[in-house]
Amino acid sequence: MTYRKMRYIGFSIITLVSLTLPWITVEGKHFFLLSFDKKQLQLFFTTFNMSELWPMLFLLIIFFLGIFFVTTLGGRVWCGWACPQTIFRVVYRDLLQTKIFGLYKSIDNKQRTIVKGKYIQKILAFLIFALFAIAAAADLLWYFIPPEDFFAYIKEPSEHNLVFVVWFIFTALIMASAGFLKEKFCTYVCPYVRIQSTMIDNDTVQTIYNPIRGGEIYDAHKQKIEDKRDGECTRCDACVKVCPTHIDIRAGMQLECINCLECSDACEKVMKRLNLASLISWTSPNAAQNRGEVKFIRFRTIAYPIAISIAFAALLFMTTTKKSMILNINRNTELFHMSRDGQSVENTYKFKFENIDSKEHMFYFEVLNPDITIKTPTEPFKLKAGEVKIKVAILSSDINSSLKTKSGKPLPVTIRAFAADDREKIFIEKEAVFIYPDK
Ligand code: SF4
Ligand code: SF4
Repeated sequence: MTYRKMRYIGFSIITLVSLTLPWITVEGKHFFLLSFDKKQLQLFFTTFNMSELWPMLFLLIIFFLGIFFVTTLGGRVWCGWACPQTIFRVVYRDLLQTKIFGLYKSIDNKQRTIVKGKYIQKILAFLIFALFAIAAAADLLWYFIPPEDFFAYIKEPSEHNLVFVVWFIFTALIMASAGFLKEKFCTYVCPYVRIQSTMIDNDTVQTIYNPIRGGEIYDAHKQKIEDKRDGECTRCDACVKVCPTHIDIRAGMQLECINCLECSDACEKVMKRLNLASLISWTSPNAAQNRGEVKFIRFRTIAYPIAISIAFAALLFMTTTKKSMILNINRNTELFHMSRDGQSVENTYKFKFENIDSKEHMFYFEVLNPDITIKTPTEPFKLKAGEVKIKVAILSSDINSSLKTKSGKPLPVTIRAFAADDREKIFIEKEAVFIYPDK
């Protein structure tokens, strides 16, 4: 199978996954959703509110370590095989402009300029790509506004015009980068180009021309040797014509190379006619020089996955053991209060309940210390998904209770708050203090 076909399969899988993931929910929670209007992060089907965004830190660590690992292993492999910009270019230039509307002669020659005339086809290609960009921008938005809300919002444009503004900006950016900047985006705009050179080494897998077999095409000053004809390279320039970033890989490795391997496929086609293997292969500089195997197992290629696995396991553990409610307890400034009949001691608190589950629940709490009772609130109360409520709680203890022996000292009390309709699953325990008067 050619690298091009493999990349197309990869692009299809990535597109399918990114389109379907926002629609998959478990008990109303998404795999990944950073909702600014609900002030929530949903990750691995668990909800976090804005005061507990620590999973984002883990995600960023995993993201950056992932980039370091992939780049150390395969250079700019992300660019050629998974980057949305590359997918947009393949859809616009290769599929629409070349295959369907014939505005370029062949996808094997990306150096030719677009054909003159054919205005209807040009407009049609542009409009179809605009629809594709609108869908891609909506898909991107679904990770911030879930699809169920997104489609409800666009039915009421006057009330949700910000959604339309952001949607339009995302669409315009996709159109501009894929339609106008083209591969200049990969070469000049994307910051990844600049940082990737610090992560690769001589064992990193890259697109490499074999000058031992093919012959030197460029001299030490990177000037093309025009008349020399030793080696297997036929100088057909098929590898140059097909290159989307307009480089000649025979001049050596270059920052512009996105590892798409189109040049390798092109050379393979040419060399096949001569019963020879492609002169351009996906290998490491060391393996190419020593004519050996690529050294995949290295310190960095082991250290990064270990660090990623630790961060991922910690994230998964904390996510799966996370509570669905939050309770913050603050004491009143008054230390304690005697009841009117002088028979009991009361302490007043402010309980801040937050329902971070995706469903509405009835909440209440109990005190696990046997000598302390709840005076108020007397009944469970309702909290919608994401709702916060502050309740004044008065705890009371009989003046003659066993607590008397500890008079004057703050006594630790354990509060167990819970969803009355699901108390085994949604609960939280918090420590507070109860102050009893001195004798
Ligand atoms: S040199 Fe080859 S692998 Fe690199 S961008 Fe050009 S065609 Fe793709
Ligand atoms: S496609 Fe192969 S044979 Fe043709 S110019 Fe490139 S390296 Fe040489």
